Amino acid sequence: MQRITILGATGSIGVSTLDVIARHPDRYSVYALSAHGRVQELAAQCAQFRPARAVVGSAAAADQLAALLRAMNVDTQVEWGEAALCAIACAAEVDGVMAAIVGAAGLAPTLAAARAGKKVMLANKEALVMSGQLFMDAVQDSGATLLPIDSEHNAIFQCLPAGYRRVPEAAGVSKILLTASGGPFLKRAVETLDSVTPDEACKHPKWVMGRKISVDSATMMNKGLEVIEAHWLFGAPAAQIEVVIHPQSVIHSMVSYNDGSVLAELGNPDMRTPIAHALAYPERIASGVAQLDLTQVGTLQFEQPDFARFPCLALAYDALRAGGTAPALLNAANEVAVQAFLDERIGFRQIDRVIAAVMDELPHGAASSIEAVMAQDGLARACAGRVIATMDRPLLAAAEA
Ligand code: NAD
Ligand code: MG
Repeated sequence: MQRITILGATGSIGVSTLDVIARHPDRYSVYALSAHGRVQELAAQCAQFRPARAVVGSAAAADQLAALLRAMNVDTQVEWGEAALCAIACAAEVDGVMAAIVGAAGLAPTLAAARAGKKVMLANKEALVMSGQLFMDAVQDSGATLLPIDSEHNAIFQCLPAGYRRVPEAAGVSKILLTASGGPFLKRAVETLDSVTPDEACKHPKWVMGRKISVDSATMMNKGLEVIEAHWLFGAPAAQIEVVIHPQSVIHSMVSYNDGSVLAELGNPDMRTPIAHALAYPERIASGVAQLDLTQVGTLQFEQPDFARFPCLALAYDALRAGGTAPALLNAANEVAVQAFLDERIGFRQIDRVIAAVMDELPHGAASSIEAVMAQDGLARACAGRVIATMDRPLLAAAEA
């Protein structure tokens, strides 16, 4: 029986994880669940899965959750705040941690799980993008098992030889091919991108996800973050990581070998597949995902990404090449810009301009410690805030005002 903590249980990945766990009560039990705000949903999850502990984001949310649980006779212990998140990630009772908090907020507990030598199932790509080498060192030093949940990286992991040691040449790997759906604006006239609404940006053609990652998919910053994620997970330099647009999202990514072979992982686009893969690794369990019928799919298409349409992709490659804390600056600026877009304070095409301005203005340094990375994260957030304050509000918001 494996005891699992889910960080970000009420999100899209958290809910899919509980869906898979519920199919295998003989294999998995839930040790702890966390959520930031959605207390009602978390209470219902506690009633169903009976975790020992639940963590929320504030004292008020904790009071509310405790009252809901009392009324349902659920004896889950309620805690709140970052220290509690770290505690449920590294507790001795825990075997595996699903890291599914969105954004930099997930770094501390995800790192705590890695340092404690847990099986870390990593959905929270921002944590790895920010801390890169420091995170991989923590995994190495503690003997933690790191399993990617991001569908692309999970696919690549499956296409690499068992025991792969993060040296592409040693395994005959010539390239990592990251597939991208291209998001909702792949074909939309570029001049109309200035006026798209948050809801349009969040309407992903293939995946149902949280709002932050949905906007990242529309700008293709998501793919940019994934290029950086692939660099750290698989040890490949920027030049060996290529993005390929594949609108059907049936091939989740590929590995190209020096003998001309290309290995791919295919499946219906449903995150329960990589989640089940990581939960059971190296075994296989049912995930609830329907088998892929290629005759129904019919055609698989591929094209090169348009870096002019998607400047965020180029910004991410630049940050990876620059190294040090540049990816942390990129990530922080992006988080602030995406939130401003979701709040209708800036337009869609201003997201990349905010990030570019922050990257221009702030010098990056060495990512020597988590404290150094967090300090750069803070500077980038403040800088992005200043840049946004000087921008004209988008047509969309102005028209409504
Ligand atoms: P989501 O917005 O649906 O859920 C986020 C979860 O994090 C929620 O449980 C929320 O309560 C919690 N949370 C938010 N802010 C927090 C904070 N400040 N402190 C603590 N907890 C907080 O997001 P999601 O789509 O499930 O994505 C989660 C992570 O997984 C992201 O890093 C995303 O990039 C990654 N990911 C998601 C998908 C997907 O299909 N949804 C695919 C690949 C990777
Ligand atoms: Mg992905």
